[in-house]
Amino acid sequence: MPKNTISTKGIVIREAPIGEADKLLTLLTPTLGRITVRCRGVRTLKSRRFAASQLYAYSDLLLSEQDGRYTLEEAEVLETFFALRSSLEAVACANYFADLLYAVTVEEEGEEEILRLFLNSLAMLTRNGDCLTIKAVFEFRLTSLLGLMPDLSGCSLCGSAVPASGWLDAAGGVLICSSCAFAEHAPDGEERVLLPFSGDTLSLMRYVASCESRRIFSFSADRAVIEEFSRIAERFLLYHIGRDFDTLDFLHTLL
Ligand SMILES: [Zn+2]
Repeated sequence: MPKNTISTKGIVIREAPIGEADKLLTLLTPTLGRITVRCRGVRTLKSRRFAASQLYAYSDLLLSEQDGRYTLEEAEVLETFFALRSSLEAVACANYFADLLYAVTVEEEGEEEILRLFLNSLAMLTRNGDCLTIKAVFEFRLTSLLGLMPDLSGCSLCGSAVPASGWLDAAGGVLICSSCAFAEHAPDGEERVLLPFSGDTLSLMRYVASCESRRIFSFSADRAVIEEFSRIAERFLLYHIGRDFDTLDFLHTLL
């Protein structure tokens, strides 16, 4: 098979050394989705591609492809996100995001919106943004981009569009307002994950699910609302992904 040359942007979400001087990188790209790329000789500082092969480096890349295997030929770094390293919380957050992305993206499927969300979130982390807020926004928006978003239009039982409070039913992906919840009798033995929300938290969930991507962090909310939103965003996403992450357990020890 002849070699193809491919030009793309991409960010490193995982790296592993191979042999003396090579690396195997996992990249998230806008058009090829998640791909694995072999990089020869990049572990020496003399390599021109050294910076582009670091974790979270975002670059313009020239790849060669043969029989479905990619090799890095040239790279020009656009953003290193190096300032992340000045905060343990920010690094822990980025590591959790990278694990999440590795778990939910697939090879060879375009992920432009997910990539943009990751870049925006890393940029906020490097600017010393609040980690709990960034994490919750990342999780909830990712839920939306994966097509898992719950129906936030109103109570699924009485139709109230502006309930003062209620519960998000994680399995059903629906809202149940407080009035209906008190009137309802859940069937015996049914295991349900019900996540409480207030009206302000519902407004924030609606905003993060539907705003323009460049406005995703353009809101302010009380700490109690952020904390409630954060609990919902994490539990809802993990419920649907169906697994835990060591990087999240570590992050919990810091936040
Ligand atoms: Zn209701």
